[in-house]
Formats: sequence, C-alpha cells, structure tokens
Amino acid sequence: MLGEIRGEVRFKEPLSFHTSLRIGGTADIFVVPQDVDDIRHALMFAEREQLPVAVIGGGNNLIVKDRGVRGVVLRLEGCLGRAEFHGEEAIAGAGVSLSALIREAAAINLGGIECLVGIPATIGGALAMNAGTPDGWIGDFVSAVYYLHPDGTLGEYKPSAGTFTYRNFNAPAGAVLIGCRLRLHRRPMAEIQKEMKQRLKIKKSTQPLALASAGCVWKNPAGDVAARMIEKCGLKGKRVNGAEISSKHANFIVNRGGGTATDILALMDLTRERVNSHFSVVLESEIRIIGE
Ligand SMILES: Cc1cc2nc3c(=O)[nH]c(=O)nc-3n(C[C@H](O)[C@H](O)[C@H](O)COP(=O)(O)OP(=O)(O)OC[C@H]3O[C@@H](n4cnc5c(N)ncnc54)[C@H](O)[C@@H]3O)c2cc1C
Repeated sequence: MLGEIRGEVRFKEPLSFHTSLRIGGTADIFVVPQDVDDIRHALMFAEREQLPVAVIGGGNNLIVKDRGVRGVVLRLEGCLGRAEFHGEEAIAGAGVSLSALIREAAAINLGGIECLVGIPATIGGALAMNAGTPDGWIGDFVSAVYYLHPDGTLGEYKPSAGTFTYRNFNAPAGAVLIGCRLRLHRRPMAEIQKEMKQRLKIKKSTQPLALASAGCVWKNPAGDVAARMIEKCGLKGKRVNGAEISSKHANFIVNRGGGTATDILALMDLTRERVNSHFSVVLESEIRIIGE
C-alpha cells in the first residue's frame, strides 16, 4: 500500500525540518501525499499494520518530542493546495496556506477572513485549532468541512453551535481534514489590505516573529490572559538551554538555537507550577505535543 503512494514516503525523517520551533525527533514513516488517494493508501497501510497516525500541517503549533513519533506521520502542507472561489464562498484544500487564501480572496474583493492574517497555518491546521484572534476565528466562517475517516471513507461535517470552540474543533475521532467551505463577503481590496497591514504591524510589534516559536503556548484562562500571569511570575526571559520564555511576549517560548523539546517542556512545567502557586490557576496548553 505504501508502494501505491505517488507522493513522497520517507523513513526516519527529522520532524525538526517540519516544525516552526525547529525541534523534534524523527518520524518512523513520513508521508507527503500528492492527493486524497495517497492519504487513503497511508491510512489503510496504518490500519493494516496497526500503526498510529499523526497529521501535521505547517507544524506551527507543535512540539514534537525528542525521541520522535512512532507510526505514520502525514504531512499535508503542500498537498491539497488548491482554492476556488464561487460567488462569496471559498472552497479550500487542507494544504492551502491560510495567508495565501486571504491574499487570493482579497485580490478578488472578498474579505471577512482578513482578521486571521499573520497566523502561519495550513487550512487543515487552522481548522483543527480553530485558529484566530478575539476578533474572529476560522470556525466563524466555515460552512462545511470535508475529511477522511481512518478507514479512508469520505465524510462531510456541517458545523453547528459547539463544533468550533476556543482553540478546538470537535472533529470526528481520527479524522484527516481534507478541505472546507468558507463564507466570505464582498469588500474592496484596498480596505482589506489596509486592515491587513494594520494587523500585521500590531503582530510584529507584540510577538517575537524573528525567532523560532510555535505561537502561544497556553490558552488564556477564563477572564484572564496567560501572558500577563506569566509575566507577573517573573518568568519573561527565563531560559532552559536554548529554549526561552520570550521577553517580548510571555506566552511564547522561542528556540534561540539548539533548544530541545525537553527544554521547552521543562519551561512549560515551571510556568504551570509558578502560575498555579501564584494565581491558583492551572494553565492548559494550546500548543499540541506529539511523540515520545
Ligand atoms: C509566530 C506565530 C504566531 C501565531 N499566531 C497565532 C494566532 O494569532 N492565532 C492562532 O490561532 N494561532 C497562532 N499561531 C499558532 C498556529 O499558527 C496555529 O495554531 C495554526 O492553526 C497551526 O496550523 P498548522 O497548519 O501549522 O498546524 P500544525 O501545527 O501542523 O498542527 C496543529 C494541530 O492540527 C492538527 N492538524 C493539522 N492539519 C490537520 C489535518 N489536515 N487534519 C487533521 N488534523 C490536522 C495536528 O494534528 C495538530 O494537532 C501562531 C504560530 C506562530 C509560530
């Protein structure tokens, strides 16, 4: 079945090449599918061999542990990378870059999703994480999600209340998201571009974009802001080897070079402990952790 895959199949692929943190051990079997059939072949192979499957998009919200990931890792960035526009609707494959989609929509005077500008993501990863900002989440725009079940059959999901929650999409278990429909609206390109420029300026001034990171590490607890709490605990700039709690934005951990997943996880443990003893709040991680 692996032999039927027309895309790439690699063994012992370092996942540090595929994560924005530039950290992570190897994937036993790493598949970059070319199309939906390739994904099916990989899923069927994993099912037959009883191997776990992990899906990654752009790897912008991931910590891959240092001993790597057993089983099959499917990487969808660069696959299913087409978007089409029909009226005020976009139909996008899971591998489409979110920022490319925002730009393409703007070029034909379609807006709405510009509130998501500057979030590094594939559409699949953005859906899985319900990526966004308090001004708008991708789930607000989704009218349908297409996915494959672990047995390779196609599913369609029509979101309803509670489908997309804070940093989460309650997708069917084991679903590999392959695309979605997004509701956009007419807006002049110049207006969209102006808003994007303003948003990117704010992002640049508040986030450590020049350094390797995976965005915000922690979810904001109800009624508070994780970055404020971490800062109050005096943890800004705290380092464990190459990993550092950003002194620009306390909810980011950056890899200053040579950092490992173990270093990042040590900083996370320390943060969780300090915030808990200071505020009696247990922080919940936003970042997804995979591997051993
Ligand atoms: C500098 C920086 C700034 C950021 N700013 C923001 C921000 O403002 N707002 C925000 O929401 N996020 C932000 N993030 C986090 C990140 O960009 C988002 O979480 C994004 O949605 C991750 O997309 P991805 O394609 O990289 O997903 P990945 O990191 O590859 O995967 C994330 C999760 O989605 C799952 N997944 C990915 N693709 C699929 C698929 N096709 N099917 C099933 N599951 C899938 C993975 O298994 C994993 O659990 C930032 C990150 C960085 C590095």
